[in-house]
Amino acid sequence: MIKTEDKLMMMPGPVEVPHRVLMAMAKPMINHRGKEFSAIYDECQTISADLFKTKAENISIITGSGTAGMEAAVGCLNNKSDKILAIENGKFGQRFKKLAGKYGTVVPLEFEWGKSVDLAAVEEKLAAGDIKTITMVHNESSTAIRNPAPEIGALAKKYGAYFILDVVSSLGGDDIRVDDWGVDIAVTGSQKCLAAPPGISIVAAGERALAEMEKVTTRPYYLDLVAYHKSASKDLKETPYTPAVSLFYALLEALRIVTEEGLENRIERHYLMTQAVRDAVTAIGIEMFPHLNEVSAYSNTVSAMKAPAGINGEDIKKAMNKRGVIISGGQDELKGKIFRIGSMGATTPTNIMTTLAELEQVLCDMGVVEAPGAVMDIAGETMAKLYE
Ligand code: PLP
Repeated sequence: MIKTEDKLMMMPGPVEVPHRVLMAMAKPMINHRGKEFSAIYDECQTISADLFKTKAENISIITGSGTAGMEAAVGCLNNKSDKILAIENGKFGQRFKKLAGKYGTVVPLEFEWGKSVDLAAVEEKLAAGDIKTITMVHNESSTAIRNPAPEIGALAKKYGAYFILDVVSSLGGDDIRVDDWGVDIAVTGSQKCLAAPPGISIVAAGERALAEMEKVTTRPYYLDLVAYHKSASKDLKETPYTPAVSLFYALLEALRIVTEEGLENRIERHYLMTQAVRDAVTAIGIEMFPHLNEVSAYSNTVSAMKAPAGINGEDIKKAMNKRGVIISGGQDELKGKIFRIGSMGATTPTNIMTTLAELEQVLCDMGVVEAPGAVMDIAGETMAKLYE
């Protein structure tokens, strides 16, 4: 039996955390109302802002997973009577819809999970009038599709709506341009492409959104972005309530690693690794799951494949798990139908090679692939640049 600590984490988060980041958490506690913590918060804000491509003062860092940031964004920007256009083409778009129902009035726009967002359908809803806020997931991890954020940002601007974008599974692994795309609030999580442990959500909220939030009377208490913003202002640089200090140590170390690698290099590494997965699996007859259109793309950070005919995707996941590689299956209605491989954070080409070789063997054992041996060359060629 392979021990837990020897398993390779290849899920779309949580991901393997570099040793340096784990060690950072072993430091002693400090006063969270002191200069030392402020310096940590300040540096986390500055580096995060570079990744979101926005101003450092727009960044708030919350103790809580990605969903905490999603809830803060939806809840702080909307009163119950405000109409929220919730774009859904997967599990996390659906989560935004559920949150929108709690804090505002949902106008759902649902596409089959795995299908692309149709811009004409979005514009039709906006033209019907009165939409205050649009929510969308940039990188829909449940289906491995990249949704058209710049295009939705342009539509939000045209119709005067606020735009909330989930970049939970793409920030640090794909190109995000909050200011250029007209995103009012963007949200990420620590346990995906940043390769930190789970438990922190980073929110980028621009001036327009912050001014509007002041007028919202039903803002959540613990997740009040107005309070976070005030505490993170120039003189304080802290959080309104006691933060998970150890997770802040880890986040800072993880963000420093991103800086050392360089964002462009990191995005390219993510791209080449997902492309290698796609090239290798399609070469052995496995179909990719997402249906793309002219404005969508395959995810830069996770790949979703259809389970081959007659095979349950959960069985592929279980067989991989036995071989020591932890991948993901489908969620909810996609359970059994697809399987997913993450290539996020600190994942290396070697991790990708190992995963593909084990997958090929599993598919061989299931009688789907005739003989192992094809995937390594194909993936190696795609990732050749990473070996230079
Ligand atoms: N959004 C996306 C795209 C995700 O992939 C996830 C987690 O998998 C979430 C939101 C929710 O984040 P968390 O599980 O950290 O609350």
